[in-house]
Order: sequence, then structure tokens, then C-alpha cells
Amino acid sequence: MSPPTSIPSGWINGKPHHSTGADHIVVNPATDQPVATVKLAGRGDVDAAIASARAAQPAWGRATPAERAGVLLALARALAAQSEVLIAEEVAHTGKPIRLATEFDVPGSIDNIEFFAGVARNLEGKASAEYSGDHTSSIRREPVGVVGTITPWNYPLQMAVWKVIPALAAGCAVVLKPAEITPLTTLTMARIATEAGLPDGVLNIVVGAGPDAGAHLAGHPGVDMVTFTGSSAVGRQVMTQAATTGARIQLELGGKAPFVVFDDADLPAAIHGAVAASIINGGQDCTAATRAIVAPTLHDEFVDGVADLMSRVVIGDPTDPATDLGSLISRRHREKVAGMVERARAAGARVVTGGAVPDGRGAFYPPTLVADVTENSEIYREEVFGPVLTVSPFIDDDDAIRRANDTPYGLAASAWTRDVYRAQRASREIHAGCVWINDHIPIISEMPHGGYGASGFGKDMSTYSLDEYLLIKHVMSDIHGVAEKQWHRTVFA
Ligand code: NAD
Repeated sequence: MSPPTSIPSGWINGKPHHSTGADHIVVNPATDQPVATVKLAGRGDVDAAIASARAAQPAWGRATPAERAGVLLALARALAAQSEVLIAEEVAHTGKPIRLATEFDVPGSIDNIEFFAGVARNLEGKASAEYSGDHTSSIRREPVGVVGTITPWNYPLQMAVWKVIPALAAGCAVVLKPAEITPLTTLTMARIATEAGLPDGVLNIVVGAGPDAGAHLAGHPGVDMVTFTGSSAVGRQVMTQAATTGARIQLELGGKAPFVVFDDADLPAAIHGAVAASIINGGQDCTAATRAIVAPTLHDEFVDGVADLMSRVVIGDPTDPATDLGSLISRRHREKVAGMVERARAAGARVVTGGAVPDGRGAFYPPTLVADVTENSEIYREEVFGPVLTVSPFIDDDDAIRRANDTPYGLAASAWTRDVYRAQRASREIHAGCVWINDHIPIISEMPHGGYGASGFGKDMSTYSLDEYLLIKHVMSDIHGVAEKQWHRTVFA
């Protein structure tokens, strides 16, 4: 076996950056084989990346929207031209199925970049006012400055794109710290961005450990805004770190999405939807369906249908286009997932299908359906982040909504019904940043993604996301040029 490729510790000022930090091995979780080694970036490397961003930001912020849009469109075209590399890397460091990387991760990222290239040219201000006949006012939208971004391992390319691209469209410079276990596609995107004409220093990457490079970035006085996607626990630490400098902050955190099936639902559609939405990306998706809450009249049929479809899911080699479910992110993460299922079983829940750790290479784990769960059990309340769905019956519509909302999270939810009134009620009363009706998972660049409560605040995607990276300035101009303004009468007798 050949030794793994050595990759840079980051991308700073338009060039690969090599740190002298500790060696970290990036592992393919489906094969347990090393795919790359990296010397982890530390605090000094973060300082260098922030200095590079600070130097580059003023000119990028002054570039016209059309110039920024032109660079983003060139980046989108270049990513499309090199999509084979990105797909191969995304599969190698996450173990996700190649079909998902090919049809979702990479094209979704490119679409997001094209969308923000358009939005960059439409920086509207919505207020307008005249004051006492002497003035007229206008609104300027200005970049927030240097943005520090920290991203997770589940969709490495898309999570980076969702943060970096609206920031660039707004005229910000960025320092991004990806999860150190999945750095490949983020580094490749930065290289391609430089080749596509992004000015040096506008996008900087540091591949470092969370408590070291990540914490230093989040609390750095050279960072004007911190934007984070990851777990709720780390999100709270990041908020504390950012509070030391008063930086603006945006957080996209965990989820525990309910999947509510009312008694008039199209049952085959709900069954297909539940399996697809609970196993997508190995269930390592913050919006994945995790808690099926089902009308008592449909409960048993739903359980049988989901178990049957789960047992037919093709698990295996992520590079095979026929594979539905690849590997989880690591053996350590699989232990966490399996431990939660085992503790549920020990507490009296019924593991209807799945739940057994397979022998052999890779961090594989089967689609798993857990019934007869209690409302206060760990598996019902905590984020599992694996291909695990719980199912429980509700009593009536009020109870369904109550159960859906019985979580500190509020990222996403779905309601399955053919009744327009039930659908409207569910969409109004479920406390989450996204409620799907008769579907669960799809996202589009034009619409916002972001949570309520323990799932964070602020939005990714859509024009709402661009607002996160912009400051609003009121410019008031005297239009008469007279020395004595009307308002002076309140000062001078
Ligand atoms: P994580 O919170 O462990 O890590 C996320 C990032 O934070 C990584 O880059 C990590 O290195 C860094 N980090 C860790 N400790 C840090 C610290 N003390 N200071 C600063 N940075 C630190 O999350 P993960 O395990 O990589 O990802 C899974 C989590 O992400 C899940 O909870 C999932 O729900 C969430 N997620 C949310 C969304 C969303 O849009 N809401 C999207 C994807 C993932």
C-alpha cells in the first residue's frame, strides 16, 4: 500500500499553507485506510490567515457587485469542470454514497454559488424617508468585514459553500476552519477559487482541531463575524468565545426532526419518505427524519412498511453507484450510534429492524427502526446522527403537535396529510425553521435554512443569508444647503 498523500494545513493568501503542527491522518471510514496526512494548523496559522483576510477585505468589499458576481460564476464553472475530483474526495473522506455526492453535494454547491452570484447584484435597502423637508435618506449595504467560519464533517463541501459564498457575495473576506477529519474538498475549493480569479487572501482555510484552531478563530479580535455549523454543544462554546470580542454571530446547530403522519396520509408515500429521510447521508443530516409520530390507526402498518423498505436498502461500497447507504463518518461515531440503540433496547424499546453492528471493514451501520420508545428516553430526545428512526403513536392531532414540539431543537419537521387544514395548522404550530408538507429533506438555494431554539439562529441559503453578512448604513443628506436647518430651532432659541 502506498503512503497517504500529504496535504497542506490550509490555504492562505492564495497559496497552500504548511504548518508545523501535529500530524493528523485523514481516514476513509468505509475502508479504514488512510487517504491523506495533514499537519494540523494551530493558533499562529489562524493569526496568519486572519491577517491575510484583513489585508484583502477592503479591496474585495469595494469591488462592484458585478465584479464579485463574475468571480463567483467563474468559480461555479470551474467547480463543475473539476466535479469528478470533488466527488471522489467527498466520498473518500466521508464514506457517503457516490450517488449522493454526484447528485446532491456537488451540484447543490454549484447551484448555491450561481444563486449568490445573482443575489450579489441585488443588495437592496428597504427603508426610505425624508426628514422635515431638508434631507433625503438612502441605505447602503456594506460587508460586515472578516468572517470566521467553522464547519462540520457531514457535508463538508456544501457546509463550506453555504457560509463562504454569501459572505463573498456580500464583500467579506473569510477564514474557514473545516472539520479536520474531512478537509479535502474545502482545500480543493479554495485552490479552484484562486485559479478562477478570486483575489488572494479573500478566502483562507485552516485545517486545525476545534478546541485549538477553532476556538482561537471564534474568539479572535480580528474577526468581525463568526458563523458556525455543528453540534449545539460546541455552538454554545463558540458563542461564548465570540462574545469575548462582540463579533456578530450566526449558528446552525443540531436537530431532532419530527415526521408526523396523520391518519389521512398517503401511507406508501409516508413510508418511502420516512426511510429516505432517515438514511440520507447515513442519517448524519441535521434535518434527517428522526422521530416518526404516527396516527394510531396507521402505526402498525407504518412500522411494517418502514421495516420492510429498510431491510431492502443497499449498504456497502460508497464508490458503487448502486449503494444507497455508505459508511458512517468513523468507527467512533458508529459506537455512539450503536450505544444509543443498545441503551434504548435495554430500556424496553423494540428494535424492529437493524441495530446490529456488522463485522468487517468500515464504519457501516444498518437502517434501524426503534418502536415502543418512551417520551423521556435518550433515543427519543437526543440527536443520534445515524440511520435510526424512532416511531411512536400519537393520540389525536393536539397530541401530535405537542409531541412534535417536545424538543429543545427546532430545525426541521414534516407533516403528512391530505387535509389542507391539518397541513396549515401543522405548518403554523410546529416550532421549526422549516416544515415540509408531504415531503422531508429537499432544500433549494432560493429558500432559507436555519433553526429555532437549540438549533441556532440566522439563516443559510436564500437572500436572508446574504443579510447575515451585511451591515445596514443610513446615509442622510442635506438637500438645501442652507446654514439654518429647521431642526436647529430646537437648539437655538
Ligand atoms: P461539532 O460541533 O463536533 O464540530 C463542528 C466544527 O466545530 C468542527 O469544525 C470542529 O472541529 C469545530 N469545533 C469543535 N470544538 C470546537 C471549539 N471548542 N471551538 C471552536 N470550534 C470547535 O459537529 P460535527 O460532529 O462536526 O457535526 C455534526 C453536528 O453538526 C450535528 O449536531 C449536526 O446536527 C450539526 N449540523 C447542523 C447543520 C445545520 O444546518 N443546522 C448542518 C450540518 C450539521
